[in-house]
Amino acid sequence: MSRLPAYDRLVAALSEIVDLRGIGFLLVWDRSTYMPPGGGAARARQEALLRGLVHERLASPELARLLERAEKEVGALPPDRREAATVRVARREVDAATRLPPGYATEAARHFADAYAAWARAREDGDVRAVVPHLERTLDLSRRKSDAAGRAGHPMDPLIDESDPGATVATLRPLFDAVRAELVPLMRETVAAGAADVEPLRGSFPVDAQRAWALDRVARLGYDLRRGRLDETHHPFAIESSIDDVRITTRFDARDPGLGLFASLHEAGHGMYHQGLDPALETSVLADGASAGVHESQSRMIENVIGRGRPFWEGAYPSLRAAFPAALGDVTLDRFLAAVRRVRPGPIRIRADEVSYDLHVLIRFDLECAMLEGRLEVRDLEEAWNARYEADLGVAPRHAGEGVLQDVHWFSREIGGAFQGYTLGNLLASQVYATLKAEHPGVEDEIRAERYETVHTFLRDRIHRHGRAETPDALIRRVTGRSLEVGPYLTRLRARYAGGAASG
Ligand code: ZN
Repeated sequence: MSRLPAYDRLVAALSEIVDLRGIGFLLVWDRSTYMPPGGGAARARQEALLRGLVHERLASPELARLLERAEKEVGALPPDRREAATVRVARREVDAATRLPPGYATEAARHFADAYAAWARAREDGDVRAVVPHLERTLDLSRRKSDAAGRAGHPMDPLIDESDPGATVATLRPLFDAVRAELVPLMRETVAAGAADVEPLRGSFPVDAQRAWALDRVARLGYDLRRGRLDETHHPFAIESSIDDVRITTRFDARDPGLGLFASLHEAGHGMYHQGLDPALETSVLADGASAGVHESQSRMIENVIGRGRPFWEGAYPSLRAAFPAALGDVTLDRFLAAVRRVRPGPIRIRADEVSYDLHVLIRFDLECAMLEGRLEVRDLEEAWNARYEADLGVAPRHAGEGVLQDVHWFSREIGGAFQGYTLGNLLASQVYATLKAEHPGVEDEIRAERYETVHTFLRDRIHRHGRAETPDALIRRVTGRSLEVGPYLTRLRARYAGGAASG
């Protein structure tokens, strides 16, 4: 007889839910990669069916009773035991599934299907007015979801908590204000020093050679191709069916090699996180990243902190040059580095450089806050958006498609909680890297020698293997000795970009 009979039954029930989600992710991957276009309607139905099954199980009274009994059993164990983390995460998931008013999930699913279709049309002809009624309805749904959490504090807090547990507007605001106060002048200074005039990489970069180079490099970095694969999609992503099947995608452009190579590094960072989970967590609710921010820290670590660093390219550039002799034969390492670090403020977030990227995120975060607080009406959103782009980045979108309509987030889910994780990830990546360097002072010599084991082992042992067993704040303090802070990020960016000095 097990000492924890209810807990054991809970784990068995949750493992089927985790597997149902894994099946759902495979359907998404297939739809995004190789599904023939005619399969769309049936696939939408199949995905909705699976989502419904997952919801039904999570919201079932039997699971709720089982969880209550398991909580009592586990309450007697030390709080750092994995059982305690499992019931804590199960409680989050069950509460999230059950506290929504009846009918909300169906209503939201139907609304977002319409809103997405309206967005796709409006983005093409740049017509914001066509989406205003949809966004107003989205805002209403977002407020209802927030209210259902029954929390005091900012209306965005429950929506943030879904993806970044523990974070609130009050805790994020001072961090984000400090980032903005530093990045706006750093960006202007860098542009004034001539960074925007740097020539981009030109020439012909055959896609087959890009693919081969990217595959080789992500494998060297630690992304396991026996348990993963790299395919091509318009919007790159990482997705997992299980710990041993974690897939990434990228997008190659024969005239712009930076796009595909850095997207490959980014998604490999996400993929390595999931592949690095403790195998004992397979089918556990703990088998996921600790938060959106912690997940993003792993992709930004590989893409930017390491992947745009001089040590990395001192090692990797000769092989890239050998792969593209016609285009890179005359390009020195310094010119190449300057090109992949070109700072050039523009209207589009996903094309942004490392210095201006967070400014895009913070604009969205502030506008979400303002809409949820009722300080900003949806019909005034475009004007507010454009004003902030002018003030912070000094750019004006030519049309709404590269302005307020550029991101899918507000048209496929609630307003609030979708963006803060990007900047949290940037902050955390630098803080973790500072810890790594302090503990392994020779790590950049290893990176220069194209040896990445120390980096990978550090990330796997300290972060990846633990999954969701800790709250993000507990994880960050265990790994770095401190709560999340802006200092290491701003120091790193200043060292790399201030005065146009391309070092670091
Ligand atoms: Zn990412």
